[in-house]
Amino acid sequence: MATEAILQRLITNPERLKDLVDKAKDVALQSGMVIRTKEKPNSSEVVTYYPFSLFPTPVPKAAFLQALAVQTHFNTLVDKISQDPDFLEEALASTIQADDFTAKLFDIYRHVQQEGRTQPIVVGLLRSDYMLDQGECRTSSLKQIEINTISVAGFGVIDRVPEVHRYLRTCNSVFIIGLTLFNQGNCVLSKSFCRAVILFLFEDVQTSIINHRCMEKELCNRNIPVIRRKFEDVSRRGSLDDDKKLFVDGLEVAVVYYRTGYMPNHYTEQAWDARLMMERSLAVKLPDIGTQLAGTKKVQQVLSKPGVLEKFFPDQPRVVERIRATFAGLYTLDMGLEGDKTVEMALAAPDQFVLKPQREGGGNNIYGSDICQVLQQVKESTERTAYILMDKIQPTPVQNYMLRRDFPLQISNCDSELGVFGVYVRQGKDTVMNECVGHLLRTKSSEVSEGGLTTGICVVDSPLLL
Ligand code: ADP
Ligand code: MG
Ligand code: MG
Repeated sequence: MATEAILQRLITNPERLKDLVDKAKDVALQSGMVIRTKEKPNSSEVVTYYPFSLFPTPVPKAAFLQALAVQTHFNTLVDKISQDPDFLEEALASTIQADDFTAKLFDIYRHVQQEGRTQPIVVGLLRSDYMLDQGECRTSSLKQIEINTISVAGFGVIDRVPEVHRYLRTCNSVFIIGLTLFNQGNCVLSKSFCRAVILFLFEDVQTSIINHRCMEKELCNRNIPVIRRKFEDVSRRGSLDDDKKLFVDGLEVAVVYYRTGYMPNHYTEQAWDARLMMERSLAVKLPDIGTQLAGTKKVQQVLSKPGVLEKFFPDQPRVVERIRATFAGLYTLDMGLEGDKTVEMALAAPDQFVLKPQREGGGNNIYGSDICQVLQQVKESTERTAYILMDKIQPTPVQNYMLRRDFPLQISNCDSELGVFGVYVRQGKDTVMNECVGHLLRTKSSEVSEGGLTTGICVVDSPLLL
């Protein structure tokens, strides 16, 4: 039976719906789809189910496979950008004048470049996010929203959602035509880490710690010890020796895994000093500062300019074509004629665009009439160069139930965003690993512009390939 027909049946049968929802929540908890509560983010005494969709969401198989196939090229691209100081300097020149946070990150990048790199091993763990844009002839095309290069979330649940959806399908006579997918992300991601002692650097609010524990468990199974510290711990009790080995609490750190450090409010002055020390150290950084900068919205916009991808892949027109096919319209707000045109275009049709600052973590973009308000304020000054403008992707809404604690259960029109995980390891000039290792589907109500997983605005989902 197709999902739509099942939904119609459930809408008219509240008892059956309640029964299914109760079962779904229990199975989610039993499968380990568990999250701490927003009231007590630093305690595991009270936990709840990770917000999820009752049904998988149909995704055209071709678009799904396209997203998986292009991932290793995005891995290569991000890796190349992170090693290209001239490109980063030019791409971010206007941004760092207007955005203090990017400027501070760039200062660290410059410092490390001038001092000379000490660690030849580079590890990247990315998630490239997409939405399906509804074309004029109702053909949907895969469009990239962004690439995340730091503190990429989703592990620990990505293989669990299909498990729950599969259970509901097979054990509840809820037959859904299509294919749910095997998602192997969790274990492969941990494989990329397996080098030595690892420092998980975490932020104050630890709602998602149970997902971090999943990675810690994988590492522990391989006898690799993990220590968890905050910036302030590194700042107080961290040091470099003469060989630039990083020590924290007397332990040598081989890998720093950042689960923080992507937002200005993660940093105090001491935290900035600690970040610089870690970047200068011999430890492998996940990600290093160049890779973090390669994930900025400004870099994404510059990459969409004619000829830029070609510079990174000079003899690979097919690769360029495959990457470019996923780009939505991206527009500069740099001072000058081109930026002026962008302002004009956005003011004339704000609902067709998203205005993006250089921020991560959701909730920072500007939509609709707010775009006009912000642009009116900044359009004459260099302040506008802190932003880029992007075409707004218009996905076709799909009906689903989102199971979220503290939210009433109701059928909603939903939009989904597909994230594809990429991992690479390079030693000097040799790429040792370059893989696509899994996917994450997130779903939100079409009525909200964006929302985070931990706040319950969006839910985890699984793709049903059609
Ligand atoms: P962040 O780094 O904060 O996650 P994103 O660029 O991913 O920033 O934007 C956050 C959210 O905003 C996305 O998850 C998506 O829901 C929405 N969004 C971003 N860009 C677009 C776009 N071009 N069209 C439609 N929605 C978008
Ligand atoms: Mg992001
Ligand atoms: Mg995002």
